[in-house]
Amino acid sequence: MYEPVIGLEIHAQLLTKTKLFCGCSTEYGNPPNSLTCPVCLGLPGALPILNYEAVVMAIKLALAIKAQIHLRSLFSRKNYFYPDLAKGYQITQYHDPLATGGYLRTELNGSYKSIGIERINLEEDAAKSIHDGMPDSSEKTYLDFNRSGVPLLEIVSKPEINSPSEAVEFLQLFRTTLQYLGICNGNMEEGSLRCDANLSVRKRGTQEMGVKTEIKNINSFRFLQKALEHETLRQIELIKSGKAVSQETRLWDEHQNKTLPMRSKEEAHDYRYFPEPDLPPLFISKKLIEKIKATLPELRHEKIERFRQEYKIPLYDAQILTSFKNLADYFERTAIKSKNPKQASNWIMREVLQYLKEQNVEISRFPLPSENLAELILLVEKKEISLKTAKEKLFPRMIATKKRALEIVKEEGLSQISDEEKIKELVLETIKKNPRSVKHYQEGKTQVLGFLVGQMMKETQGTANPQLVNKILKESLNSLLSLSSLSSVKRKK
Ligand SMILES: [Zn+2]
Repeated sequence: MYEPVIGLEIHAQLLTKTKLFCGCSTEYGNPPNSLTCPVCLGLPGALPILNYEAVVMAIKLALAIKAQIHLRSLFSRKNYFYPDLAKGYQITQYHDPLATGGYLRTELNGSYKSIGIERINLEEDAAKSIHDGMPDSSEKTYLDFNRSGVPLLEIVSKPEINSPSEAVEFLQLFRTTLQYLGICNGNMEEGSLRCDANLSVRKRGTQEMGVKTEIKNINSFRFLQKALEHETLRQIELIKSGKAVSQETRLWDEHQNKTLPMRSKEEAHDYRYFPEPDLPPLFISKKLIEKIKATLPELRHEKIERFRQEYKIPLYDAQILTSFKNLADYFERTAIKSKNPKQASNWIMREVLQYLKEQNVEISRFPLPSENLAELILLVEKKEISLKTAKEKLFPRMIATKKRALEIVKEEGLSQISDEEKIKELVLETIKKNPRSVKHYQEGKTQVLGFLVGQMMKETQGTANPQLVNKILKESLNSLLSLSSLSSVKRKK
């Protein structure tokens, strides 16, 4: 009878080329501390200059989720001490955020729900503390300032999420939206997208909010689900046993499979926010907003509709195919080149996704370019190879060799036998080899037909056109029936 009340605070790293307040590159995976300057190292006297591209990206998100963009917003200093924060403060937006309001519409088990957004802020990331992996890690912490000053969008949801699954769905939807807008790659492993969750529980049907705890630094959907499930149960247990939930920040410990207390939760006033004196207020013109609006890319829900209309694929297919923008692009290229959207969808939904799942990679790492898959679909369509051969032999060979479909078909003799004369020849051979089955057929046991087709497919290693084999075999057996006996056939041969 208790339900969780969950709000998420999402941090999305923006795909700008340079950092939020300096010209250093944001590229991931460079040698530690190679992408730094006095500004992002926090040296005294260095002055920040705001990155225009980051502002444009923030506006894109605000427009996509129908938030209200504030024409004047302000940067503030959030003061706290931490080794990865050389300046002793983080530049963020507090009193006057860039945008407020807006919502995302989640779908869970077929029912829709709008989850509101509290605010969207621009802020800089801190440097990265490296606690392990070095020979002297037991004694020292290393710092990498490459991440210091990288632009983040901070998105705070309203506490309108009521189950761990709904939280996961919401974060996934958010990630897809960011990816569609091309403003964040959504890579949770690299930390480009991470989230904190605050959670309290209350009796179902009541409006009063309980004391909430915050779970920090969740970097995968699986952890989000598990951490929220655990924290919900923990709070319910506490309340049921008459104890109070204390307001604190907790961490998810994946080894112990539970949340652990980290520190008592700080209040906003602990940070001593004040306007950043080195940056003027940010003014955004209506003209700029209109200009960005005009270039907003197609979003997922719009793509789903278009795929259904334009390519006549079912809703379910459209939903799966659009779950990642680059998967949707891959489908669309294959559909256009093969001129067969339904088959393109079938191949991607089954064979391609199966491969991605087995290899645990994304579509960008799939070895077949869309034109090669389209070529394979065309070969099946033209009946040059059987669907069975295409699935069982050609597709795996294309992946293994990276060669084009036609090349492999020629090299390995996979092309389908659709020549009627050739198939007649093969049918007669099969009849000759299986007199007992033929006899059974003559006696009315027509189910032996399946066995004979199977024999022929085996003989031809699956390259015979199955429809033709069926047809010709049946015709031949029936014409045999009209003759008095099998021996007369033998004489005729
Ligand atoms: Zn810098």
